[in-house]
Amino acid sequence: MNHLLERNSGTLKAFNIPFMGLKKDVHHFQYIIDSNFFQEFENSPIEEGVLEVDLEFNKKHNFFELNFQIEGKIRTQCDRCSDDFYMAIDFEEEAIVQMQNAENTSDEKELDILTIPNDSTAINVAHLIYEITVLSLPIRKNCSEDSVDGKKCNPKVLKILNRNNQSKEEETTDPRWEALLKFKNNHKNNNNN
Ligand SMILES: [Zn+2]
Repeated sequence: MNHLLERNSGTLKAFNIPFMGLKKDVHHFQYIIDSNFFQEFENSPIEEGVLEVDLEFNKKHNFFELNFQIEGKIRTQCDRCSDDFYMAIDFEEEAIVQMQNAENTSDEKELDILTIPNDSTAINVAHLIYEITVLSLPIRKNCSEDSVDGKKCNPKVLKILNRNNQSKEEETTDPRWEALLKFKNNHKNNNNN
């Protein structure tokens, strides 16, 4: 399924760009996305947030250059203390969209080129915004480093985690020693039989 296809209904219809009627020039589109937006996507890792999207849409002869600036905050879970917190989001991402049969005339060779059917007159950028936002999230998220409101990791949880780590280290025995013990026990059992 082509996620760039124009939508005829639903809240994501607001993300349609009817490029057919646009001049070959740079156009700007602004969107505010919130929790309702993320609910439109199944299994979204983001459920809550407010983001401002500024899209620079450059209509060229036979392709479009899209530059997204996305800024705001999302609610997420800390990988260290498991508390929920608001993480700052601020990134820029580009995409190239062209008709299926068009030859690539863009100089941006490194960018993936997205295609749309030749008879399209509009595209919908909702899924693209969703995808680049999710991909922009860091692998490890941490209150103390990423929080927008100065929240720090939950000290109570950190204390418990530290305590558990220490006792784990004390309990762990050398695996070679454990293997030897097993061997010794087996040997003993065999002799008794
Ligand atoms: Zn934390």
